[in-house]
Amino acid sequence: VKVAIVSVGDELLSGDTLNTNSAWLGQVFSGLGYAVVLEVTVPDDVPDIVDALHLAAKTADMVLIEGGLGPTSDDLTREGIAAAAQVELCRDADVEKRLREWFMAHGRPVHDISLRMADVPAGAEVLPNPAGQAPGLRLVVNGCVVYAVPGVPAEMRAIVTESILPDLLRRGDATSHVRTTTLRIAVRGESEVATAVSGAGPTPPGVRVAYLPTPGDIRLRLTGSPSLVEPYAAQLRRTLGDVVYGEGDDSLDMVVHRLLAARGSTLAVAESLTGGQLGQALTAMAGSSVTFVGGVVAYATELKTELLGVDAALLKREGAVHPDVAQQMAEGVRHRLGATYGLSTTGVAGPEAAAGARGSIDPGTAYVAVAGPDGSTVRALRLGGTRELVRTLTVMHALDLLRRTLTAGNIPT
Ligand code: ATP
Ligand code: MG
Repeated sequence: VKVAIVSVGDELLSGDTLNTNSAWLGQVFSGLGYAVVLEVTVPDDVPDIVDALHLAAKTADMVLIEGGLGPTSDDLTREGIAAAAQVELCRDADVEKRLREWFMAHGRPVHDISLRMADVPAGAEVLPNPAGQAPGLRLVVNGCVVYAVPGVPAEMRAIVTESILPDLLRRGDATSHVRTTTLRIAVRGESEVATAVSGAGPTPPGVRVAYLPTPGDIRLRLTGSPSLVEPYAAQLRRTLGDVVYGEGDDSLDMVVHRLLAARGSTLAVAESLTGGQLGQALTAMAGSSVTFVGGVVAYATELKTELLGVDAALLKREGAVHPDVAQQMAEGVRHRLGATYGLSTTGVAGPEAAAGARGSIDPGTAYVAVAGPDGSTVRALRLGGTRELVRTLTVMHALDLLRRTLTAGNIPT
């Protein structure tokens, strides 16, 4: 597959900006095994963009055009693509809606000029921009696939890594060229994971690494040529060790369910802080009833004693936010609901500090505990963020503690 790279921008021709984008694109696509056969830079000018696209389409099977997708009047790549394809520019309602919402959320007025970023050549597909407002575009011009990306380097890279490479993969245009492996990592910070990844040595030039985080969960996506991605993924698995809980579409609750099912074990939960969210996570998956028996939401202190058998004297002495309370909740629910394992959560969700038996307790202070046939383990947490985030992260930590208990002889906390 032959690739052409078209750069748009007066500042590139005047030498004010060094064209690092075309170098990066050249590296990525040659690294993937494509033949990069043409690079051309043209001014911010519609006829020049049209000429460049016609030349590129004649020369290559795929064109990457970068720059000139912004909102200002000198951003003319949309017009150039539409003219080269002989189609109209149409305002895309979804993109317009997203732009309006973004400006609203950032307290900025929506100028008509900004909405130019929602203009799309008829028949083009919109590629989400994870790093900015101007979306990327995909359109077939004279039988040649054209991908357009903004010139801001971070946005260009984000769209290529997160949209274009997966798009090539999905379409099978690049099955022999591109492969994606996603490692799933729970309850670790992005920078911690990034540090561990650099510790595994330099990323092979033909592999792109993307971090896709959601609270308590990171997808580490490796995209590149198959001969490089798999060995690199194996190397990362060795370096990162058991913080990698799964791959691809795995989720932590699914992994826990599979581990329990493989052992013929069952699970019950006792929740304070998470108010049912842990049970919700454990029942999201079809078939969860094989391993999940049920849960007790014991929010009031007395209920921790009445329903779970937590020592009343302990609660009076230490309050409900204490490692021993978490442990007794897990043991109590395991025993009373007759499950192989009990899992519990207690803590202060915030946003305010809570009055404890021995003074004020910071929001984000939480304990999760697991009780099983081989004893109990408590993990102490110091979490930051909103109330919602503290609760979500606590659920992830509880699941991760159980996962490690089920996979390891010794139980790290
Ligand atoms: P957009 O498509 O977002 O409008 P643009 O090319 O019009 O992109 P400019 O507003 O001209 O973007 O430049 C935005 C920033 O991106 C500037 O800091 C510029 O130096 C940088 N930039 C643009 N094109 C390139 C390139 N080819 N290589 C390196 N940096 C670039
Ligand atoms: Mg420009």
